[in-house]
Amino acid sequence: MALRPYIVGNWKMNGTRAMLTEAGAIDRGAARHPGVQVGIAPPFTLVQAMAEAVEAIVVGGQDCHTQASGAYTGDVSAAMLADAGAGFVIVGHSERRAIHGEKDADVRAKAEAALAAGLGVIVCVGETEAQRDAGKAEAVVTAQIAGSLPQGEGAAAQLTVAYEPVWAIGTGRVPSAEDVSAMHRAIRAKLVALLGEAGSEVRILYGGSVNAGNAAELLGCDDVGGALVGGASLMADSLLSIVLAAAGPGDD
Ligand code: PEP
Repeated sequence: MALRPYIVGNWKMNGTRAMLTEAGAIDRGAARHPGVQVGIAPPFTLVQAMAEAVEAIVVGGQDCHTQASGAYTGDVSAAMLADAGAGFVIVGHSERRAIHGEKDADVRAKAEAALAAGLGVIVCVGETEAQRDAGKAEAVVTAQIAGSLPQGEGAAAQLTVAYEPVWAIGTGRVPSAEDVSAMHRAIRAKLVALLGEAGSEVRILYGGSVNAGNAAELLGCDDVGGALVGGASLMADSLLSIVLAAAGPGDD
């Protein structure tokens, strides 16, 4: 059974309460496209207020700790996100991997914590430009998948994978449609190898400089089940253009 396309906005460290107005506009727009699942991951400080304010979209976190509680100053657990009204969490974003030194094992532990808390989880993977130039993109990404995916019975049902080439994030550069298709096919093959039949149902999002102008082409690539969107998710108009592209013709 094909799942609805999934369009997820990652607000990163952007947004104060004033941005709840934008979230409201996104929510009203998303309600007009029930064939598309829409999520927003605001900063932790907005999760609860946003979750209480919206109806059609799901609200998520951008990271979580591996433990449910404890002496981890500054961290937030998956259980706390769920308590605040979140429905999912992003783990392993390349900014977490690069800036906070998160390794595949950390990402896996966070993903398992998210599932234990009842959250959906989006596991991010992606190669650097140097890795792509060296012809290692597929090997790097499939190894990240093997190391980062949550283990355990039923994990696939709540799992989404986001392929985000590091060099495409926030740069305005995107891979060719052929390269996106080739990578998504490689990710699908790895998911099926690891998870069996359940691996064929896991959505694979593309992320990296998705915008209103390129969304239709990127979403039309092989095995692209949606998009993880950074900059273009901060404004309702631009995110809703991407939602419209996911909805397809006839769904204005
Ligand atoms: C991201 O950070 O996940 C992302 C895809 O950002 P952008 O869309 O701005 O490239």
